[in-house]
Amino acid sequence: MDLVSSAPYETVETDVLVLGAGGAGLRAAIAAAEAGARVLVVCKSLLGKAHTVMAEGGVAAAMHNVAYQDSWEVHFADTMKGGKLINDWRMAELHARESPERVLELERWGAVFDRTWQGRIHQRPFGAHTYPRLAHIGDRTGLELIRTLQDRAVHTEGVDVHMETTVFKLLEADGRIAGAIAYRRADGSLVLYRCAALVLASGGAGKMYRVTSNSWESTGDGTALAYEAGAGLRDMEMVQFHPTGMVWPAGVRGILVTEGVRGEGGVLRNKEGERFMERYDQERMELSSRDVVARAINSEVLAGRGTPHGGAFLDITHRKPDYIKTKLPSMYEQFLKLANVDITKQPMEVAPTIHYAMGGVRVDAETGAATVPGLYAAGEVASGLHGANRLGGNSLSDLLVFGKRAGDAAATEAKTNPNAATAKLDKREIEAAIAALTAPLERPGGESPYRLMAEIQDVMTRYAPIVREGSELQAGLEKIQELGGPRARLRHWWVDDACLQSGLAHGLRPAFDARERRSPAALGDRAQGKPRRPRALGLPQARRRTGAGQLHRREDQHGHAGAAGEDRADARLSGPGRPALVRPLHARGD
Ligand SMILES: Cc1cc2nc3c(=O)[nH]c(=O)nc-3n(C[C@H](O)[C@H](O)[C@H](O)COP(=O)(O)OP(=O)(O)OC[C@H]3O[C@@H](n4cnc5c(N)ncnc54)[C@H](O)[C@@H]3O)c2cc1C
Repeated sequence: MDLVSSAPYETVETDVLVLGAGGAGLRAAIAAAEAGARVLVVCKSLLGKAHTVMAEGGVAAAMHNVAYQDSWEVHFADTMKGGKLINDWRMAELHARESPERVLELERWGAVFDRTWQGRIHQRPFGAHTYPRLAHIGDRTGLELIRTLQDRAVHTEGVDVHMETTVFKLLEADGRIAGAIAYRRADGSLVLYRCAALVLASGGAGKMYRVTSNSWESTGDGTALAYEAGAGLRDMEMVQFHPTGMVWPAGVRGILVTEGVRGEGGVLRNKEGERFMERYDQERMELSSRDVVARAINSEVLAGRGTPHGGAFLDITHRKPDYIKTKLPSMYEQFLKLANVDITKQPMEVAPTIHYAMGGVRVDAETGAATVPGLYAAGEVASGLHGANRLGGNSLSDLLVFGKRAGDAAATEAKTNPNAATAKLDKREIEAAIAALTAPLERPGGESPYRLMAEIQDVMTRYAPIVREGSELQAGLEKIQELGGPRARLRHWWVDDACLQSGLAHGLRPAFDARERRSPAALGDRAQGKPRRPRALGLPQARRRTGAGQLHRREDQHGHAGAAGEDRADARLSGPGRPALVRPLHARGD
């Protein structure tokens, strides 16, 4: 309750509001505060519990500690090749050039990396990286990264944190983002945040699928919030399947088996004992890119050569037990505790799992600015760096490089527009958002949110799988439209309404965007695009902008996106003779 104005919410003002306390949010907060801004970090869970903490394999940076031939240029080339050349090349360049300094900075701030025998930061090989490039702390890199950033953030003057608080609406004033409204998860009370600049660092959207390596927080809220605020999105169809998730027991299906296992020499075999990667990438074998390995496992299963639970065997038993326990301690414990498998003696059973959203908010490479003034994005919620497929380890370096850049730029913006945080907000917009949020509480009947969420996940799993067909996408789209209709009137507020809405938004997009025309903007030219009308998708109407970099698709005169929308990049990916709408999903994991 706002005691001054008697509004049903408390009002908090800051210069820079950071939505998310994962690696991207914390790095942005540190940068903005060091630049002199007052910073408030808001997150759904507790500080230190963001999804970044789960990162295992390492952080990619061309420090050439293990392979002296490595350089930022090779890292740049690997990233572009992995992304099938639809990456934003400038982001790929900045990322490759700046990640070594961001890693060394972490070390100065206290991160305890594994070491080479000369005492330098150790770097392990990973899929599609030409040289050993992943700085790591065993297979618990994310934990150390978060611990270090968190420690730095809480000791930086000007940073405050609001935990267990979910943002459900971004607010505009004078044509720019000037705040957000949120509820506290503990008691449902409302908070109105006012700010001069807002950095979205809300992570990914893996929870739109049933089998995923992602944490419960990854419901794509940030992308949906930005979309509703009129921001441009890109590459939404690019969802990564990590080749190696656990498959058995059923309750742990999807939990990640780090690429570090293959980096340390793990080999993949089908049920006939054949090292099948020879058929798919003779040169790189298990260290091929994630999309190739995931599709290879998928093909083996479809050909009847899968393991008893529909996957492949991943075997590292040729390594000494002590080596495995030192280099892969979490994997050793994970399989022993969850599956009763001793990976020093037995192979692991693995299958592809949804892992990472390459698509997201369209941002400027230098500053992380979205296409709506006052809004910035960094980390998994942003798009561009990874193109069609992310290389392992490139996410942690992404969030360090672009988290810092977004924080710096947001602080500059707050200095340039000091009055933005006190601009007049639209009271009716705030009231409407609160009414929509609390409506399920008033409703006597309606759908169970759990069931609705499960159905979205089932539709995505069934109709937008690793290899997609036009007819299947169409059928999936119809199912999603059904779910977005009257059934979306939820009975209770057991599941965050915001989560469900973003789930719906995300559930729809990959299906549509597989038919999206890849705009010149995605290839580097920031051309204008026309968004598909959200209402036609059964979604809340987003304010439409026609500014540069909008979600771009080709529609015929009836407003239908058509197969004609296949673009140059798509044509390259699909290859000659391939039906226009059949296209593999480009996948890869950490
Ligand atoms: C098991 C696993 C292992 C991985 N290993 C690696 C690896 O070794 N190397 C690598 O490079 N990448 C790895 N990745 C990918 C990488 O961990 C993530 O892409 C990255 O951590 C995302 O960081 P982020 O800061 O963008 O978001 P997150 O860490 O997901 O943080 C998001 C934050 O936003 C907050 N938030 C979200 N919505 C809201 C809302 N509505 N209101 C308020 N707060 C909100 C959350 O509470 C959270 O604090 C791995 C991923 C998984 C799943």
